[in-house]
Amino acid sequence: MTDPAMNAPRIEIPTRAPSVTSADDTVLPFEVAALDLRGRVVRLGPAVDAILTQHAYPAPVAKLLGEAVVLTVMLGSALKIDGRFILQTQTDGPVRMLVVDFTAPDKVRACARFDKDRVAAAIEAGKADAGALLGKGHLAMTIDQGQDMNRYQGLVALDGGSLEDAAHEYFHRSEQIPTRVRLAVAEELRAGEGGAKHRWRAGGILLQFLPKAAERARVADLDPGDAPQGTAPHAVQEDDAWVEGRALVSTVEDVELIDPVVSSEQLVYRLFHEPGVRVFRGSEVRAQCSCSRDNVEAMLRSFSQDDRDHMVENGKISVTCEFCSANYIFAPGEVEAKG
Ligand SMILES: [Zn+2]
Repeated sequence: MTDPAMNAPRIEIPTRAPSVTSADDTVLPFEVAALDLRGRVVRLGPAVDAILTQHAYPAPVAKLLGEAVVLTVMLGSALKIDGRFILQTQTDGPVRMLVVDFTAPDKVRACARFDKDRVAAAIEAGKADAGALLGKGHLAMTIDQGQDMNRYQGLVALDGGSLEDAAHEYFHRSEQIPTRVRLAVAEELRAGEGGAKHRWRAGGILLQFLPKAAERARVADLDPGDAPQGTAPHAVQEDDAWVEGRALVSTVEDVELIDPVVSSEQLVYRLFHEPGVRVFRGSEVRAQCSCSRDNVEAMLRSFSQDDRDHMVENGKISVTCEFCSANYIFAPGEVEAKG
């Protein structure tokens, strides 16, 4: 996004000792001033569990959608906007579409569209990683600040890679900000009454190199592209600070991103205690849909009478929200177009 606010934490507060208590459904911004690094840690418990459990998608689809939720919260929570940040994939793989919708300041909802048979075949073949499920297409990130404002959209190709790959590609090509993203989602099994209970957990970390002198932010090209053979590759010397930051973040294990006993502050302290790290006031996230009977009614009124007639079944119009499965039922006469 071109909005510089995206890279700035909301409110600065003085340094404090790292909290040992882990807080789920939170975003923690941090800064490593000595290396010109900024970042955020996202940790999701009940919010991601509510979304994924309610949909009851096949596990690899749920995991993929969980990663998209973490990425969306990571990016959306950094925008100082009123409105929505929407991440959407459209691809040719077994999972045709992922939609995650973050409404400022703290609401997130998500859903996926997929081909059941192709997903089952991918699981059967042991090829149900993110890249295989998504296939090829694109990922779009949209900022929607309401009717009278311009929508801003950023697009990046998905080419058989993961959502992390797509995020790196986006920040490299569109923003020219050296960026590393780590996303992790897992199902936790706990003994409980009536047998083991499943619980989804998710987490992630974003690290960006934001030096005051722009030329320090140059990074080597991700791939040589379609340059003719024999063309000398760009000899870009990456900045030492970024090389160090990137190396540190690559040591993060998935389990550290989701472990309920490692707090976000402990995680950034473990990574960056040597150069020194400062954390900022975090924010919270919750799973909540923004659909309402009024919105659905307005949508139905905007359809033609003919379209509405086709929606009548057993004397009523029934609309189910794809995000939260809420069901809205109208009598045909209730939603006649006004005027
Ligand atoms: Zn809903």
